[in-house]
Order: sequence, then structure tokens, then C-alpha cells
Amino acid sequence: MLLEVYNKFGLTLTRGNGVYLYDDKNREFLDFSSGIGVCALGYNHAHFNEALKKQIDKILHTSNLYFNEQVLKATKNLTKASKLSRVFFTNSGAESIEGAMKVARKYAFNKGIKNSSFIAFKNSFHGRTLGALSLTANEKYRKPFKPLINGVKFVSFNDLESVEKLVNEKTCAIVLESVQGEGGINPASKEFYQGLRRLCDERDILLIADEIQCGMGRSGKYFAYEHSEILPDVLTSAKALGNGVSVGAFALSEKVAKNSLVAGDHGSTYGGNPFACAAVNAVFEIYAKEKILSRVLKLTPHLEKVLDEVAGEFDFCGERKGLGFMQGLRLNPKVKVGDVLKKCRENRLLLLSCGKNDLRFLPPLITEKTHIDTMGEILRKVLKSF
Ligand SMILES: *Cc1c(COP(=O)(O)O)cnc(C)c1O
Repeated sequence: MLLEVYNKFGLTLTRGNGVYLYDDKNREFLDFSSGIGVCALGYNHAHFNEALKKQIDKILHTSNLYFNEQVLKATKNLTKASKLSRVFFTNSGAESIEGAMKVARKYAFNKGIKNSSFIAFKNSFHGRTLGALSLTANEKYRKPFKPLINGVKFVSFNDLESVEKLVNEKTCAIVLESVQGEGGINPASKEFYQGLRRLCDERDILLIADEIQCGMGRSGKYFAYEHSEILPDVLTSAKALGNGVSVGAFALSEKVAKNSLVAGDHGSTYGGNPFACAAVNAVFEIYAKEKILSRVLKLTPHLEKVLDEVAGEFDFCGERKGLGFMQGLRLNPKVKVGDVLKKCRENRLLLLSCGKNDLRFLPPLITEKTHIDTMGEILRKVLKSF
């Protein structure tokens, strides 16, 4: 038996094609969840599949004691997209966060700071491992697993003043999702992000951008911090980076790389293996070839318009918030988001929830205008029944 730690949806999915998924009864579902922001290229993408098959016939795994062609190419791709300089590949989002935390601790340690601490944000989500959980605000996720890493302070998002109040000589890093996801969709404002950048520069504190969900094109740029015209010191990525092959990464500026982790400080058996990196390289190739970023930028106003129109028709729908193909819609607590998701599934539309009672929309980045229209029609029909 599987350990029952997920509230499952009761569907068994067997295959996918484009933005559609099919279950074991061959029912077709329009997917606006992308397996929680992973399947940016949708399902059964011919070019992506071909790249994986080719790599399988060459080499799946070596170890990090050797170079492999794919990891070098993936590093080039990620440094070019992120404008950062050094990359470490992991197998998941949480692992990327763990690595970023070690970078920050080591950077502070090299400056003579012991017991350094982190600043994170209310409604944050950074993963389920003990380190990442320490930065995750949701008390329900944290409580049974205490003690977590000491001294993490949670501050209001988009509120620079309260961050300034809590920064002190022990602070090694400020960690934020460029667009908060799981805790309720909430983009960092440009002023806020630029203010954090300034604060971190003044104090020589690391700014860690968690782009595990909002990155890799979901915002219409490779990384959502580009919208704020800043560069973080550390970037974490995963989810769409491998389009379904489990891979993550953290990337560092040259300055931070030179003053943090050295040989022997960190490692991973699988991280950066040829198969995972072949997936990463195929993702970057396809993004370029199919102009994925400009497609998202071009279609975002339509997605926003459709969601705003639907939301406007129901008094129990609150504000829509988001950036690019990462959108949230708040529901009044009298309408339970779980019930809406269920009705959507019955009408062959897959959505997600987030926050306290919000709908979350994470369509594949290959989604077309007609799919957005269909989603809007199904959602309208479903909401009418509440
Ligand atoms: C999903 C997610 C994580 C954790 O990633 P896993 O691969 O599940 O470990 C961390 N941060 C953010 C913002 C996420 O959305």
C-alpha cells in the first residue's frame, strides 16, 4: 500500500497528449494544472520524447566524479537563462532549497558569522524536507516536525519595512518565491523586490529566489525576477526544468560561488546525471524553437480576461492574482475550493487549489487560446452550480 499522505483526486491517469490527459476509462481531461507546474510542454511532446529516447540509448548515469556532455550543456543553458554563473543540479525542488540554504550558511560562516539565520515570508512554501520546511510558513506542515532550523523569521510579503525591521547581523539570507504559489498566488511587486535587492547589497546578505514553481517560463520570462529587473544571488529551480523528469538546480552568482561551497561541502549521487540533463537541454531547445516565452506573454492577457470575466459573474469569487500562466482566484469560504475542483473534474477540467480557499491555474505553457476559452466555459458552468 502507498503511504496515504496525499488527498488524492480518485483518478488514474494513463496517458496524455498536448494539454489533454486520459484516464483508465479513456475519459479526456483538459489540464490546467501541469502536474503542479511541471509539464510545461504538455504531454507526449514528440521532440522531448525523442531526446529522452536518444539519451537512453547512450548513457543514463555515470557519477559526478566524471564530466558528461549533457550536464555541461545544461549548465550553459541555465546560466544563460538565469544570468547567474555557477550551477549545481539536484533531483527536486526541496533539494535545491537545501543546497541554497547551505550556500547561505557557508557564505556567512566565511565572514565569521556563526548560528546565522534566515528571513522567509508568511504564506511561503519551499518544500517538505526539514531544512525547506523551516522556511515554509504553514504551521500545519511544520508543527509535528519541530525542532526545525532555529531562528527563521516570517515576515509579511511585499512589505519591505517589516523586513528591514527584522534583518540583523545574524541574517545570512532572505528567501522568497518570486511569485508565491502553494500559500496563495501572490507575485512580489517590483518595488518590493528591488528594495530587497538594495537591502541585501547594503548588508551583504544573500537574496535567494525560489523559482521552483514560477520559473522556467511560467511568468512569460525564464525567471519571474526578470520582471522586477533584479538578479538574485541564488536561484532555485525544479518543476518545469525537466518537464516531468525529476531534476532541480540551484544557481549562484560568481561572487557567492567563490565565497561559499567548495570541494567536499556538498554532493548528490543522481544530481546532474546525463538522462536528467538531457531532459533539461531538450526543454531549453524546445522553448527556443517554439518561442514558448513569447507565447505565454502574448496569451496572458487573454487568460486574465477570461478569469476576470468569470470571476465577475459570481459574488463568491474574489480577486484574481497572478503573473503569466500562474494565476489564482480567491473564493469566499462558503464555497469550498475542494468542491469546485471536484465539479471541474466531473466536467473534465483539471485545476488545483492553493492558499486557504483559492483556485490555482497552472496550464501547460503550450496552451492555446481555444483551450483557455474552453476552460472558461467549463469553469463558468461549474461555478453556476454553487
Ligand atoms: C513545489 C515547490 C517546492 C518543492 O519542490 P519538490 O520538488 O516538491 O521538493 C519548493 N518551492 C516551491 C516554490 C514549490 O512550488
